[in-house]
Parts: sequence; C-alpha cells; structure tokens
Amino acid sequence: MGILEDQRMGILAAPPANFSFLGPVNYNRSAIGVFLGPYPPTVTYVNSRWIRRGVIRVHQSGIYYLFECYDAYDLDGIIRQHSTVFEGRIINLRRYHRSFIPQEINFDTTRLWVRVQGLPLLYLTREWANQILSHVGFIEEYEQVGVGLPMHANIRVRMLVDTSQLLIPGCFVPVEGDRVVWAFFRHEGAFKFNKSCGYIGHHSERCKVKKDVSSCKPRCRLAALERRGMRVLYGPGQQAYYTNYVKGLPDIFRYRNPKVNLIRPSEPEVIPFMDRNGREIRIYQETARGVVARNDTTLFRKEVLILMRLKKRVMVGEL
Ligand SMILES: [Zn+2]
Repeated sequence: MGILEDQRMGILAAPPANFSFLGPVNYNRSAIGVFLGPYPPTVTYVNSRWIRRGVIRVHQSGIYYLFECYDAYDLDGIIRQHSTVFEGRIINLRRYHRSFIPQEINFDTTRLWVRVQGLPLLYLTREWANQILSHVGFIEEYEQVGVGLPMHANIRVRMLVDTSQLLIPGCFVPVEGDRVVWAFFRHEGAFKFNKSCGYIGHHSERCKVKKDVSSCKPRCRLAALERRGMRVLYGPGQQAYYTNYVKGLPDIFRYRNPKVNLIRPSEPEVIPFMDRNGREIRIYQETARGVVARNDTTLFRKEVLILMRLKKRVMVGEL
C-alpha cells in the first residue's frame, strides 16, 4: 500500500503578500454561535435582544453566527450565557479566536432550565433531582435554595444537556410499594421540537431524519443506559414516547424572545454541586498557587469525576 496511508504530505502554503492577522472583523473579541436545527433566524433578528454595554455586530457565515463585541464585558456576558433563545430557536454560544476552525468547535451542549413535573411533594428535593436527572445531563444550579418545599410544586434545575442526542422526555420514579410514577422533563427554551425524530430545533414538516431511523433511536438510547447499569422499565404499548410536555414554556412572544442581560454581575466564584449522596462537591483546578475551586460550568460529568479524584489526592496530601 502507498505511503499516503501513514503519512500526510503537502506543500506549505505561503501567506499572500498583503495578509495580516487583523482581518475586517475583530475575531478575538467575538463569540460564535450555532442554532439547533436547520433554518435559523435572520441576522437582523438575532441582534435585537441583548441588554448590553456597547455595540455588537453580527456576522453570518453558513450556520455560524459571529458576535463581534466592541465591549469586552459584553463578550464575557455572552460566553457566560452559553445558550440563549432567539425567536424560539436555541443558539449555543462559544468564545471565538481568529485561529479557531468553526467546524471543530463543540456546540453540542445546551444550557437550559429543566422542570421535572409529576412528582409527589416529598420528592421535590435536590437529592431526587440528582437521581432523576443523572442520565439527562449535568446539573449546574437548583432553583430551590435552602430546605423546605420549593416555590412551585416541581423540581427546576439549570442543566447542561447534550442536544446532539435525542431528548429524554421523562423517567419512572418509584413511589410507595411497587408503584412507579412517570416524571415529565420539561425543557424551557425548546419551542421547536419534533415528536417523531426527538431532536430540539427540528421542524415536524421539514425534518430530514428518516422515519425508520427515528423510531428505533429512543430504544437504542435506553438500551445504552441499560448497559451502563440503569434499570429501564417499559410502559404499556401504543403510548407515544414524546409528548408536548417536552416543551417547558408557553409558546408566546415573551418566552420565545427572552432578553439576555449582559450587564449583570458575574456569577459567584464557586458554584456548589451535590453528588449522589447529597454531599457538596466542587470543581477544582490546578493553578500555580495550588488547587482552587473554579467557576467553569462547562464541565461534564466525566471531567468532574476526574476532578473529584484530584480533590481526594489533595486531601491525602499528594498535591
Ligand atoms: Zn428531526
């Protein structure tokens, strides 16, 4: 076989004579965003909902939207936001740099509020939220503070969800005896959702996912969870897997077009997380000064586990 298989060869392109790293756009002061699903809104629309300090210019190239911020704090605000909604469409936002290749940026995680609906009051606790949502994504924030009953009769948490995967519409929760109840997961910001394919952002009439593919996918996803050691129950047949309960907010203008406040002060330094047993865990980071807790909420479960291991080592004095 040829050399090409194990070796890449090519000439080194010489930069054009007039090339400069300073392009027409200040890329290093920009955030880049991609909408979930096809047919995104127009550029003019996308720039109307920020509460901001300075000018934000929006550029579009294919599916990518670039938000060029004249004020650095606006940029920080957009990055902190992680995801937002324009005209009922979710966009995931990331920091951009002039050397970044858009196709290599991971836009899979979406930050959204999820409400768990259909539980007895006794179950409206952080501990149950952790148990119920462990396979859905990573919990960043609980609406409920302190002990006692929540303000509304359901669990509401802010999560990072992998929206490149099929949505999980709910799960079974054991109640007394051998009874189980179905808890609905209601996703705030999911206005466009296709019940036959299971993806946020997809439109029922214009979905390109083939019917036979989409019908077996939920089963595959559950089978994967089963392999990870979770118990899967199968309810009575002829019941639709997805219902309108997937959508968490009424489809009205105010919710479809939320204002995004980029001026609000930054989030607290340390966001506590609860592990499965209700103990507080923190995300740790190695720095020159040792190990400090950090406020980077874009981490996922696997990374947290690694960091927890790191914390253990810290406690036994290895670091
Ligand atoms: Zn679809």
